[in-house]
Amino acid sequence: MMKRSQSRHRKDKVKCRRCDKYMRSRSLNRHLLTHNIKIECPTCKKYVREDRFHNHKVLCHDHLDESLCNRVSGVHEHMDRADCSSVNGFFNSYDLRFSSSDDYDSIFEKVCSTARPIVEAAIQRHPVKCQLTVSLSFYKECDGQRKESEKVFRSQCEPLLVGDNVDGFFRRARIILQHSVEVYERHGSGWNFDQHQCSKLELAKYSPLAGSGFVAISKKLSNMKSTLNIRSNDNRCFLYCLLAHLFPVKDNSGRHTSYLKYLDGEHVDKNGHT
Ligand SMILES: [Zn+2]
Ligand SMILES: [Zn+2]
Repeated sequence: MMKRSQSRHRKDKVKCRRCDKYMRSRSLNRHLLTHNIKIECPTCKKYVREDRFHNHKVLCHDHLDESLCNRVSGVHEHMDRADCSSVNGFFNSYDLRFSSSDDYDSIFEKVCSTARPIVEAAIQRHPVKCQLTVSLSFYKECDGQRKESEKVFRSQCEPLLVGDNVDGFFRRARIILQHSVEVYERHGSGWNFDQHQCSKLELAKYSPLAGSGFVAISKKLSNMKSTLNIRSNDNRCFLYCLLAHLFPVKDNSGRHTSYLKYLDGEHVDKNGHT
């Protein structure tokens, strides 16, 4: 029984024709992208995978840190749609409504102009992470029959801080959306743009990492016992690190309380000078 189910599992897997690795069939498409050729970015000279190159080029040209442009880092815990619209509004999805157009370029223009006042109002209050999603339908003629499909396009998810100018975000969003549709039409075996279905603005409350406080280090690193990561709940982590170096303690070296005795005015003055 055991044997049979194992062999069935192996049979479920497919082989990559490029590197002979086995994987689940649903992982294959994503895996194949890793074999894409890499292109040199004219701005930073890094080599970037072909499928990611266009977005990278747009962000890199505007000197935006690509590592901040994902949907997770610095974002408060996502809530269910049902919760989010009610309580604290940590994560909000806004339906963007406007009169439709025949060409997708002017649809993207309307998406941006409808979303703009919402984004501008949001960043008066708090930094946000911001993304536009546009759902479009396509058609093609196949053996005399009309086939239809729907596809969702996303702009890059970008962090916007209080007082930021939103022009750059919307300009990049339009370039990226436009490019994704063109790629889809070109490589999607003959799909033609039909009409706009719906558009959304997604906003999440964003907290940029501040230079203070305690940040846990990885288990691998802490198990090596070669680093000291002092736990404190105030903003004096750098001062504790200096004190740990100047006045090493044997016990509880990872607690900030072990160093409080040096904050006596004799070792460290009130301005934090040692
Ligand atoms: Zn492969
Ligand atoms: Zn670059």
